[in-house]
Amino acid sequence: MHPFVYERPASLSAAVAVASRSATRHPPTQAPAQFIAGGTNLADYMKLGVARPERLLDLNGLSEPALRRIETDGEGLRLGALVRMGDAAENAEIKRRYPVIAESLQLAASGQLRNMASLAGNILQRTRCEYFRETSWPCNKREPGSGCAAMDGFNRQHAVLGTSENCIATYHGDFAQALIALDATVHVQGHNGRRKILFASLHRLPEDSPHIETDLAPDEIVTAIEVPAGAWTRRSRYLKIRDRQSYAFALASAAVALDLDGETVNEARIALGGVATVPWRARAAEEILRGKVLDEAAAAAAAEAAFAEAQPRRHNAFKIELGKRTLIRGLLETRDMKV
Ligand code: SF4
Repeated sequence: MHPFVYERPASLSAAVAVASRSATRHPPTQAPAQFIAGGTNLADYMKLGVARPERLLDLNGLSEPALRRIETDGEGLRLGALVRMGDAAENAEIKRRYPVIAESLQLAASGQLRNMASLAGNILQRTRCEYFRETSWPCNKREPGSGCAAMDGFNRQHAVLGTSENCIATYHGDFAQALIALDATVHVQGHNGRRKILFASLHRLPEDSPHIETDLAPDEIVTAIEVPAGAWTRRSRYLKIRDRQSYAFALASAAVALDLDGETVNEARIALGGVATVPWRARAAEEILRGKVLDEAAAAAAAEAAFAEAQPRRHNAFKIELGKRTLIRGLLETRDMKV
């Protein structure tokens, strides 16, 4: 493994100060100083030689209590960045008022990983594209301008939505699909102060620079995630389809939240996982459903709209049909929830 300096700052301001001293024009994932919390993603990539930070800033020593708090009230849900996935997944208020969030976390990774991984680290996880993980292959995300081995390689796991001619890597997270469906906001703190970012603007499409994965500066730390309460948050669920029922990434998933008047849709919130390069809000599908009776035909029309722009490669065309079926089932099961 590449040698690095390990530090454990005691406060957010101290962590930001260290990171900003070595901040460069590099994106956060290639910056000399990088933050670590649960270590369940970055440590893997350091062992593989994909990530090579010179300085590792361990955020587990930060003293601010709000970083570890879960708070709910009539306005919404506030999740501290260092809350562990397992704690949020088992929180009774989240299960009751935001089931799509609890389910997205329960279905992610393994119990051991959920007990280590932080919520902020989870949303910032990097792709598991096999060619990204193996440094002998060309990869525009790891080495800008080197090419993309997945384009003509084995691309069964790869994305069909939000792709570019430079990268087709899937964003594999589950929690992020619940957050984008529910219009979450991310709070960050950096050298230039604090700011809020709409979750939908946090991740960047690959376009011509797949190595720039988020809107964050190298010295910015995610401090909290906020989810507004809505008429749709209680009637919500996360459906995940994968090769095996435990500890596998989604081949296709759907985060669905509905505000219904009887079986007529007032509002639908839909996100799709396992099929896109970033957390993916399916706004065209939502539009189709507004004001309609949610039956199988309406759900099928929404699914068609959700995948109308899909661009398959040689091995992943099955994801389009699987994604449609996943969304149809997710919509109908959410409709039938007892709330
Ligand atoms: Fe790299 Fe993206 Fe191509 Fe995978 S799909 S090899 S991450 S450029």
